[in-house]
Amino acid sequence: MAVLGSLKTFQGGHYFGLFEGTPRGRRLSNAPLPKRVTIFLRQGFSAEVAPLVQVGDRVKTGQVIGVNEPNPQRPSTPVHATISGRVTVIEKQPHPLDGQPTLAVTIESDGKDEWQFLQRPAPNYERLSAEELGKILYDAGVTSGGQAGFPTAFATAYGLPERMRYLLINAIETEPYFEATDQLLYEEFDKFINGIKILRQALGNVQVHIGLGYNKPRIYEELITRLEYYDWCTVHQLLPKYPQGEDAVLTRTLIDLLVPKGGYVTDIQCVVQDVQHCVAAYEAVVEGKPFVERVISVAGSAVKEPKNLRVRIGTPIAELLDNNICSKAARIVLGSVLHGRDQQNLDLPALKDTPAVVALKEAEAELMPVAGPGFDRDSFTGAYVSLPWLKIKRANTSLNGNERACVRCGYCLDVCPQNLFPAMLGEYCANHLVSDALNIDLMACIECGLCAYVCPSKIPLLEQIREGKRHALEEVST
Ligand code: SF4
Ligand code: SF4
Repeated sequence: MAVLGSLKTFQGGHYFGLFEGTPRGRRLSNAPLPKRVTIFLRQGFSAEVAPLVQVGDRVKTGQVIGVNEPNPQRPSTPVHATISGRVTVIEKQPHPLDGQPTLAVTIESDGKDEWQFLQRPAPNYERLSAEELGKILYDAGVTSGGQAGFPTAFATAYGLPERMRYLLINAIETEPYFEATDQLLYEEFDKFINGIKILRQALGNVQVHIGLGYNKPRIYEELITRLEYYDWCTVHQLLPKYPQGEDAVLTRTLIDLLVPKGGYVTDIQCVVQDVQHCVAAYEAVVEGKPFVERVISVAGSAVKEPKNLRVRIGTPIAELLDNNICSKAARIVLGSVLHGRDQQNLDLPALKDTPAVVALKEAEAELMPVAGPGFDRDSFTGAYVSLPWLKIKRANTSLNGNERACVRCGYCLDVCPQNLFPAMLGEYCANHLVSDALNIDLMACIECGLCAYVCPSKIPLLEQIREGKRHALEEVST
């Protein structure tokens, strides 16, 4: 195993402080079995699958409720029931990811949690071919951590004739509040290591690069001990700066390859998996368990008791936050406070790629960060002093307050991990000058949201850029 001595990082980015309401170091616990789940038949950006069940049907946990014929042109995986009970509704609902109407299956729990495991648990996975492993990953619904839910099987010999060259493991968490995946790394280290071996084998014995925050010396030592004799593996110690874990930033930092603008890591023969998805791969192959639950942080200043939970996919946000909100929350976000969408509808469910549910206090979300006082606030701009001895800081989501004219401070330029000029991109997109925005690399934006976070003029740069990209894609398709 190669261990790279010097710390690696990328240009731009931002170190976040430890925000109030972060469940750091809290052990994982099981969320109560939900009374009802809503499971979307489209996972991430993969294709929507056809329902296999009807209203009134009884289902078991792990039973397939939707599937398509495997098709590499429109990749998808089977979708599973995540509790046992009765199907009560099958209808189109706005998908939490993009608001698009998508078929969803609602199941009312019978409280029994009767399981249907996969047909082929395989404790001796070393004996299986890449294609056989790919088939199990497909059957279990294992997706990639990056690339918003791309089904892993379609990067293996099972779904893709073309060979991948690299497996990159994202074992660094740099987003505010995302603590559950870090906790999973500590508590399920064995599953994590074996999950990496399974995924490597499924991808045809590719080179593996693990990106780990340098602030995890215990995990680093364990990795070195466990992987010492494998020449296919390199461990990189990284500065824990946001957005180090984004696919395009990780490939550049770990293997010096650029993801094409608007493209995917698979375009450069890479697969990125995070800790959760390595564990899911292990549980699918060795335990025969479909991917029906994941770890989620319930966090934020409006949460009474921040927690790291094992949650059934499809659990409504309301059940996760039940009796655990201490004040009227102004913002509830499924996933990232930097680039996730605010949710008004608390019936929306946790998804396969939901690492956190964050609730922020009203006052916190409304304060204007530059004009407002506060030695305990996270500050990129240095416009107010941030006291170094305060370990826990107040979040500064920078999304409210009045939008003002751009003051050409250049903070957005400094912070952009893709070396773009967000101020100009935002201006072009807001004025519908999409071809001008494309000329300055609009499609290279990875939508990390940092430019909007640091902008002292509160210009909604991320929204403007997203809208511009949407128009650009519409123009291409017409
Ligand atoms: S322009 Fe895109 S990549 Fe750059 S900081 Fe803004 S959201 Fe992130
Ligand atoms: S951070 Fe905001 S005010 Fe500063 S240059 Fe960028 S868009 Fe303009």
